[in-house]
Amino acid sequence: MSFVKARVAHRRSVTSGMVRVTLAGKEIEEFKDSGVADEFVRVFFPDPMTGDLPMPEEDDAGRAVFPEGIKEPHAEYYSIRRIDKAACEIDIDFVVHDGGLASEWAQKAQPGDCIVLGKARFCYEPPEGMAWQVLLADATGLPALSRIAEETPAHIKTIAIVEVAEAAHRQELPVGEHVEMRWLYGSGNGIGPSNLLSNLRALQLPQGEGYIWMAGEMQASRAIRRHIRNELKLTGRNFSVVRYWLDNKEVWRSRWDALDPAVREEIDALWASDRDPDDIADTWHNILETHGL
Ligand SMILES: Cc1cc2nc3c(=O)[nH]c(=O)nc-3n(C[C@H](O)[C@H](O)[C@H](O)COP(=O)(O)OP(=O)(O)OC[C@H]3O[C@@H](n4cnc5c(N)ncnc54)[C@H](O)[C@@H]3O)c2cc1C
Repeated sequence: MSFVKARVAHRRSVTSGMVRVTLAGKEIEEFKDSGVADEFVRVFFPDPMTGDLPMPEEDDAGRAVFPEGIKEPHAEYYSIRRIDKAACEIDIDFVVHDGGLASEWAQKAQPGDCIVLGKARFCYEPPEGMAWQVLLADATGLPALSRIAEETPAHIKTIAIVEVAEAAHRQELPVGEHVEMRWLYGSGNGIGPSNLLSNLRALQLPQGEGYIWMAGEMQASRAIRRHIRNELKLTGRNFSVVRYWLDNKEVWRSRWDALDPAVREEIDALWASDRDPDDIADTWHNILETHGL
């Protein structure tokens, strides 16, 4: 079984923009972590009105399914900021933002409250022997970026650029001298256009084989992916760019729901094709953008 019901031990503010929820208990022994620094899980939240939190079942593909008649709980992806299997503890850091069930749950979480965690997955797969890496994130990517930066061996030169809404959201991370932390304030994060791309462009990338990892809002991540593909000419071996959230998600979703079935078929056929995976992703982004997605 890939799903674990986990209990809140305590909650604290890391900054005014981030809440840390510590989950603890014997159940954590059953949690399937990956050991990779940017690991994330699907988190299922209790119904805010009734408190109901049904356990998912698992289909043959490992997906969460719920018996007929059971209301599917709200679920979002979150990074595992810290895991201590021996102590049976997991920390998850939640960005504080308006209008989100997950974020609101975290801000009110009390000892004994429960959430359900899925199996851990990850995207950070740098090439063996890399000489350097560039890490880019907005507030949602900061928990994963922090863990990557903290766990990176000292021989790998690392430049980490983090964009947060305000200077008070900066966190001091216990990283070595091989990690250069740069902070951007007052942009991205749903308050304005992101400056991550212009900062990546301005970098003189170190010599040797490297890796670029980025996590953040959809528009920002798409722009960075395009730069990496079209200007830096890197292939998937040397980068991972992950869309962590959608600004104005409701507008995006209504456009997605209204999408012409022929376009959906085109997208399904694209993903099922045997084309180069980088080309597939490039084309997918182009199709979505054409339709305002
Ligand atoms: C692999 C992965 C790992 C992630 N790890 C983390 C993590 O460790 N910590 C974390 O906080 N988030 C993380 N996220 C992002 C998180 O899943 C989304 O922000 C999610 O939408 C939050 O759910 P919600 O229920 O709070 O809001 P939703 O119901 O999804 O959205 C409600 C409204 O809030 C807006 N919104 C959503 N997120 C934000 C935001 N961050 N800032 C401003 N407005 C927002 C939406 O556009 C919408 O209008 C991760 C996402 C992925 C894919």
